[in-house]
Amino acid sequence: THFGYTEVPVEEKARHVAEVFHSVASKYDLMNDLMSMGIHRLWKRFTLYNSQVRTGAKVLDIAGGTGDLTARFSTMVGERGQVILADINASMLNVGRNRLIDRGLAGNIDYVQANAESLPFPDNSFDCITIAFGLRNVTDKDKALASMFRVLKPGGQLMILEFSKPADWLAPLYDQYSFKVLPKLGQLLTRDAESYRYLAESIRMHPDQETLLSMMENAGFERCQFHNMTAGIVALHRGYKF
Ligand code: SAM
Repeated sequence: THFGYTEVPVEEKARHVAEVFHSVASKYDLMNDLMSMGIHRLWKRFTLYNSQVRTGAKVLDIAGGTGDLTARFSTMVGERGQVILADINASMLNVGRNRLIDRGLAGNIDYVQANAESLPFPDNSFDCITIAFGLRNVTDKDKALASMFRVLKPGGQLMILEFSKPADWLAPLYDQYSFKVLPKLGQLLTRDAESYRYLAESIRMHPDQETLLSMMENAGFERCQFHNMTAGIVALHRGYKF
């Protein structure tokens, strides 16, 4: 594209993703708040509100990182429930675990280092599966969706919170922000413009709302729908396994 993005081979992408998250792990929460001006909290709150998770439920938070969703789910499912925070990256998982333990939320949470493409759980294990701002980092998204479908219980819901395609009127401004402002912010705060350039590129390459919806249907999910937030900068996709 005119931003100089060149498609990289598959293994290289996985290695690059690993480097990016090792490098940003300690500053991840701060950057999240700054870059989204705090709005990511609202996007997550809307996701939790729509999750229909009840006391005693089993929840899998894939690419859970520093554990924002996991923390809230932990309270929602209570003592009889269970939340698994899964992430491929040991640094992110460590930051997440320390943070949740500091908040006194350890009891019903387990931590698993796992790739979304090959989830290490038995079939039909979870009432709800979430992946927030994680799917765009996954190399083989169809494989990941199939894996999520397999471990979801019949009647269970998958929720994908992810950057998506913003409305046309917003696109020029949004491109300026993500390709000019973001890397500068990253450079200033973490001396790491490259990671934030990756972030902008990965958002641009990610399937748009309709494409992701079809991918979910192809993986077997039913009653799939999406909900745009902040003019489509972010979308919440949902689907059920029956
Ligand atoms: N869910 C958290 C949130 O919303 O704040 C963290 C999102 S963070 C932007 C993306 C996370 O995806 C990182 O922690 C990264 O290690 C993880 N990740 C990347 N590729 C993955 C994969 N193939 N399987 C599981 N997790 C992955």
